[in-house]
Amino acid sequence: MPMGRRFNVVIALALVPILALCYWLLAHAWSAFVVADRSENSFISLRATFVVMEKVSAERGPMNAVLGEDAPTPAPQAVALSRARLASDESIAELTATLEPIECRQCAAALTMVTKWKAQLAQARANVDRLARQPRALRRDDAVQAAVRQMFAVVDGIAPLLLSESTTVARGDPGALNCLVMARLTAELREQAGRLGSHLTGALAMRRPLTLDEKLTIEHTRGRIDQLQTMLDLRMADHPDLATQAFNTMHIRYFGEGVTYFRTIEALASRPGGADITTAAFAEHYVPDMSSIVAFRDAVLDAAQEELRRNRALSLWAFAATGTGEFALLAVLGWIVRKLRREVVSPFAQATTAIRAIASGDLTKEVVVPSVHGEVREMFDAIQVLKVTSVERSRLEAERVRLMQELALMAETDSLTRLLNRRAFEKQARALCGEPRTDATWIALIMFDIDHFKRINDTHGHAVGDEALRLVARASRRHFGRSEIVARIGGEEFAVITRVRTCSDARDAAERLREDIARIALPTDSGTSFRMTASFGIAFAQPKDGADVAQLLKQADGMLYEAKLAGRNRVVAQPMRAADALEAPPPNA
Ligand code: GH3
Ligand code: MG
Ligand code: MG
Repeated sequence: MPMGRRFNVVIALALVPILALCYWLLAHAWSAFVVADRSENSFISLRATFVVMEKVSAERGPMNAVLGEDAPTPAPQAVALSRARLASDESIAELTATLEPIECRQCAAALTMVTKWKAQLAQARANVDRLARQPRALRRDDAVQAAVRQMFAVVDGIAPLLLSESTTVARGDPGALNCLVMARLTAELREQAGRLGSHLTGALAMRRPLTLDEKLTIEHTRGRIDQLQTMLDLRMADHPDLATQAFNTMHIRYFGEGVTYFRTIEALASRPGGADITTAAFAEHYVPDMSSIVAFRDAVLDAAQEELRRNRALSLWAFAATGTGEFALLAVLGWIVRKLRREVVSPFAQATTAIRAIASGDLTKEVVVPSVHGEVREMFDAIQVLKVTSVERSRLEAERVRLMQELALMAETDSLTRLLNRRAFEKQARALCGEPRTDATWIALIMFDIDHFKRINDTHGHAVGDEALRLVARASRRHFGRSEIVARIGGEEFAVITRVRTCSDARDAAERLREDIARIALPTDSGTSFRMTASFGIAFAQPKDGADVAQLLKQADGMLYEAKLAGRNRVVAQPMRAADALEAPPPNA
C-alpha cells in the first residue's frame, strides 16, 4: 500500500475513538445542561407547591376565627376567611399553571394530586361552612375537631408532592439539596406551628378548658416543632452564611415571641373556666409571628434558586466550552495531520520515488524539491547531491567502458592500417571456423604479401612504405565486406578469411584484389609515382571437417611462398581433392 494511503488509514483509525470520545463528552455536557435546565423549571413548580402548602395552612387561621364566633359569622371574620380561601385558590391555580405546560410523567401525577387536594379542600371548606352556620351552642366539639383535622389532611397530602419535586430538582443540581431540605423543614415548621395554634381552637371557641387529649396533641406537636428547630439549627451550623438574618428573625419572632405567647394562652386555657379570649384575637397575635418562618423559607428558596441558576449557567458554559474545545482540538488535529502530510509524508514518498529512480539508474528524472524546511529539506539536498554524484559516477562509468572498448580495439587493431592485427585475426578466424553453418561450402583463407617491399622502403623511404601499406589495406577493405575478416598479420603481409560457395569465388576475389593493388600509383617525395604488386596464397577448408586456423595459415603461407617462387604478382590456390574439385575450379595460378 502506498505510504500516503497507509497514513490516511492510520489517521482514520485514530479519528474513530477521538470522534467517539468527543461525541460522548458533548452529549454528556448537553444532557447535564438539559437536566440543570429542567431542574430550574421544576423548581418553579416546587416553589409554587410550598406556597400552596403555606396558603392552605394559613387558611386555618381565619377558619378557626370563624368557628370561634357564633352564627351568623361576623363580617370581618367572614371576609378574612374568604380572602384566605381566595389566596389558597390562587396559589393552587398558579401551581397548576406551572405544571400544565410541562409534558412529563411526574407533572401528570402532580396534576392528579392537585385535583385530589382541591376536592379534599372543597369538602373541608363545606364542613367548616356548615358548622359556621350553626349556633355556637349547638356545635359539637368533635365536629369542630373533625373539620380542623380535614384541613390538616389537605396539607398532609401536599407533603409527598414536595418531596418528589425536591428530589427532581436536587437530581439536576445536588448543590441545591441543602437549601431544599431546609425549605421543606421550614415548611413543615410553618405547618406544625399553625397546627399548634389550631389545637387551641376547640377550647377557645367553646370557652372551655383544654381536654387531656388536646394537651397531649399539643405536646406532641410541640415535640415535633422542637425536633424541626434542632434539625434547622444543626443545618444552619453547617451553613452559617445561608439566610442568617431571616433565620435569626425567625428565632426571635417565632421561637421567642410566638412560642411564649402560645404558652401563655395555653396556660390560660388549662384553667377550669378556659381562656377568656376569642380564637380571632389569638390568631391575630399568633399568626404574624409565624410569618417569620415563611420569610426564612423564602430566603432559603431564593438561595436554592440562585444556586440552580448558577448551575444552569455553569452547565451551559460547560457545554459551550466542551463544544469549542472539541472544535479547537479537531482543528489542531486537522492542522497537524495536514502539516504532517505536506511536510513529512508526501516529501517522504517523493524522496522514496527519487531514491528508487537513482538506485535503478534512471538519472533523467528531475528531483522536485517540495517547499519544506529542516531535516526534510536536508534530506532532499542530500538526494540532489546523491543524484549529482550518481550522474558523475555514471558518466565516469560510461567513460571507463568507452576507454575499455578503445583499449580492446587498440589491442586488436593495427595502428597503421586500422585493420585487425594477427592476434585478433586468429581469434575471429577461430570463431568463424567454429560457426555451425550449412549454407557456405568452403572457408577460404587468402594470404598476400607485397612484393619486394624492402626495396620500396630502401628506395623511397619508410614513410612511403607506410603509405603503401595503408593503400593496400584500403584496397582490401574495399574488396571484402563486413562478413569477411581482413587483417594485417605481419610487416607487409595481409590475410582474409571468408566463406565462399565455391573455391573459384575465393580465387576470383583474390585475383581482383591483386589487379587492384597493381593499379595503385604510389606518389614519391620527388613528385613521381611508382606501382607495386602483391603475391597471393589461398588455402581452403570445409567446416564439417573441422577447420583449423593455424593449419589454414600454414597452408596459405605455403601457397604464397609458391606464388613468390613462381615469379610474384600472382595467386596460388591450394590444390583440391578430386571430389572437391567438382565443386571448385582447379587451383592453378
Ligand atoms: P619479397 O618479395 O620476397 O616479399 O621481398 P620483400 O622485400 O618484400 O621481403 P622482406 O621480408 O625481405 O622484406 C620485408 C620488409 O618490410 C622488411 C621491413 O623493413 C619492411 N617492413 C616491415 N614492416 C614495415 C613497416 O611497418 N613499415 C615499413 N615502411 N616497412 C616495413
Ligand atoms: Mg614482401
Ligand atoms: Mg614478407
